[in-house]
Amino acid sequence: MKAIIIGAGMGGLCAGIALRRIGHNVEIYERVRDIRPVGAALSLWSNGVKCLNYLGLEQQVRALGGQMDSMAYLEGHSGQTMTAFDLSPVYNTAGQRAYPVARAELQSMLMDEFGRDNIHLGRAVTEVWQEGDTVFARFADGEIVSGDYLIGADGAHSIIRSHVLGEVLPRDYAGYVNFNGLVAIDETIAPADRWTTFVAEGKRASVMPVSEGRFYFFFDVPMPAGVAMDRSAYKDELRQQFAKFAPPVQRLIDAIEPERTNRVEIFDITPFNTWTKGRIALLGDAAHNTSPDIGQGGCMAMEDAVALAISLQTNTLGVEDALVRYQNRRAPRAGEWVLRARRRAAETHGFDMAVTQQWYDGLWKEDGSRIMKGLLSNIEGGPLD
Ligand code: FAD
Repeated sequence: MKAIIIGAGMGGLCAGIALRRIGHNVEIYERVRDIRPVGAALSLWSNGVKCLNYLGLEQQVRALGGQMDSMAYLEGHSGQTMTAFDLSPVYNTAGQRAYPVARAELQSMLMDEFGRDNIHLGRAVTEVWQEGDTVFARFADGEIVSGDYLIGADGAHSIIRSHVLGEVLPRDYAGYVNFNGLVAIDETIAPADRWTTFVAEGKRASVMPVSEGRFYFFFDVPMPAGVAMDRSAYKDELRQQFAKFAPPVQRLIDAIEPERTNRVEIFDITPFNTWTKGRIALLGDAAHNTSPDIGQGGCMAMEDAVALAISLQTNTLGVEDALVRYQNRRAPRAGEWVLRARRRAAETHGFDMAVTQQWYDGLWKEDGSRIMKGLLSNIEGGPLD
């Protein structure tokens, strides 16, 4: 079986590793020459880590992962703790810790594992089609490759999605901008082993530990889409937006390096259930573009990769049948997670301040059990449970 994968993000690379493990001959084609992920880091929850373990990457992902033992919400202005709790009940129930990881390191680890010789960089696909039992992809330079099936892991702006659905789906603005990056751990900002989030005014300032003594930080700022902003203005913007926040947040803003800070307008796509057309299927953000509000977009891409390989390995009625079974297995779960993230974005970002205030009020009364139940409900039920 020859598989063509379009896109060498975490979804395409995990799919490549998974499909090669079942004996398929895999080539990955990636538009850019130098992959620069949109964010500095991400949290791999237990379900995502388990997929990497399944792909034989247990030691590698553990080496990249930060020591996130506990979690806390602090009232943004006063810095007072609203709730703080140990995350081990989540890890023990799930059977695996979560690992916050630097994206560039995850990307590099996955490329090494798949093998860089079969990742063709600087190859932008412009068109895909199927003739009989063969799929074809044409690149911007006019070259055409063929295979037995094709996986569109080409991200949020997927052109393979448009081929599968026959239309270009609109992306919906989630109502806020996310600034993110990495800083050295500073315990005057937050404890080194804790995911700490300061909340007020519908805004969030958050840090979580990744490896080598670094915090992944992010700030969520509700604002309209399309506001032009020069990198040199990031710090002033954050100082102004978080002017009333407590001293640790001011120290965090002082510590960030604008040249290495990302500013991302957050969008998602209303879920859809058609992920395949013949021998062409979608995976990762191409299939389910979510806001990051439950930290599951990348984990879902990893679950897709594992589920795809299992379906192709265990179903014997042909590739098209196996791809439909993969779609039917994955689309309801991934779609529900997009909607959960969307609801959570609305709850936490002050679009209706009464709703967000109710969430804040709840945090003061929280002993961790409700939040951990929510985390587990996102984690459990994947292809390896
Ligand atoms: P991508 O990473 O977008 O990769 C797609 C690749 O396809 C790209 O390299 C692109 O260049 C290539 N490509 C596109 N078009 C073409 C073409 N025509 N030809 C060839 N190649 C093409 N997820 C989590 O699990 N946990 C988190 O904590 C988390 N935090 C997040 C925070 C933010 C701010 C954001 C924006 C997202 C977050 N996510 C998180 C989501 C996660 O980043 C995505 O779900 C994940 O990157 C999707 O991977 P992918 O491989 O499907 O897509």
